[in-house]
Amino acid sequence: MPGYELINKEEYLECRDVLKKSKTFFRMGFNPFRKGIFKVDTFEKKFSKHLNSKYALGVTSGTAALRVAIASLNLKPGDEIITSAFTFVATVEAIIESRCKPICINIDESLNIDPKELEKKITKKTKAVIVVHMLGVPAKMDDILKICKNKKIKVIEDTAWGCGGKYGNKFLGTIGDIGTFSFDHAKAITTGEGGMIVFKSKKTFLNAKAWHDHGHENNPKFPRWEDTRKSSGFNFRMTEMQGAVGLAQLKKLNYIVKKQKMNHDLIWNKIKSIPGISRRKYPTGSKISADALIIFVKNNDIAKKCRLELLKQGISTKILPEAYSWHFAGLWSHIKELYKKNFKNSLKESEKILKKSVSIPIFVKMKKSQINAIKKSLIKAVS
Ligand SMILES: *Cc1c(COP(=O)(O)O)cnc(C)c1O
Repeated sequence: MPGYELINKEEYLECRDVLKKSKTFFRMGFNPFRKGIFKVDTFEKKFSKHLNSKYALGVTSGTAALRVAIASLNLKPGDEIITSAFTFVATVEAIIESRCKPICINIDESLNIDPKELEKKITKKTKAVIVVHMLGVPAKMDDILKICKNKKIKVIEDTAWGCGGKYGNKFLGTIGDIGTFSFDHAKAITTGEGGMIVFKSKKTFLNAKAWHDHGHENNPKFPRWEDTRKSSGFNFRMTEMQGAVGLAQLKKLNYIVKKQKMNHDLIWNKIKSIPGISRRKYPTGSKISADALIIFVKNNDIAKKCRLELLKQGISTKILPEAYSWHFAGLWSHIKELYKKNFKNSLKESEKILKKSVSIPIFVKMKKSQINAIKKSLIKAVS
């Protein structure tokens, strides 16, 4: 889990620059005051460099990142966007806010989109797919890209739970056309609230940059309020304080992913021989960011028992089973744009897999005693 465990002097010093030197919270302009300090700008450049992506844009949240990413594609109301049945509601909310139609499809045992389902659910109206690398494990990007390329469908990677993970030799978020990231307080790196979008195409990046800032082109030849206008838009601008914290956190990302992977492996090696436990499937070429370790048990009753036994030892679970209703589309009867009669039945396959899942949160700092307690609790629950 993450960056919040490591908030320290580095974050303080970056923020102090803003509070004591630039005294400017706005990400652009005010040049006579800010002493050359542009935290959001620098964060975007460094984030882009870290991931080996071409263009990056900071925004106010992971949800905003998705909304702005969709806006950059110039879709029409009613266009269909396919996404996973297992994700946070934000993915679907961003599609609805864009006046597009969300189509949630089944996952496989990787807990990400099943490429076979994707192929079946594409229609003439499908214009984009939002692939979610849920809880640190990559989706099957080779198969997904092949399908989408054939049909000229854009691929957005919701990398809220995959920052720092890789698929083959590429960072998650840089494989499709656009990648979105969240820096909320539970994610691998955090700015409190915040997000980032990375782009392959300069044109799409410029669309997004203008749209997230009321359509401002920020043409350097003009002062901001005599600036040229590209389109309508909204305000999803990141603040300098978020940018400052992001810069400090980004330096810790490699360490976070390395430690999480280490702890993930330590736990898995301890529990893998317990009868009745198997692990979520990792696609070939995965380099997980290890936000969580998700195991399959025999049924939902045992999954709930695992949660109770873990809680008794002071260990929580992460999303599954306790926050299942916020992350499985088949239960979102409160979203009228999505839910219709029998919708749940079309996602039976996902429901079956998710109900037997238990998600163990991975922290950067984990004690041996905690790892032993996980093993003890699981043995008790499954036997
Ligand atoms: C966290 C999350 C988001 C939203 O990010 P916020 O920064 O909280 O708005 C979107 N998608 C997924 C899969 C997430 O886990």
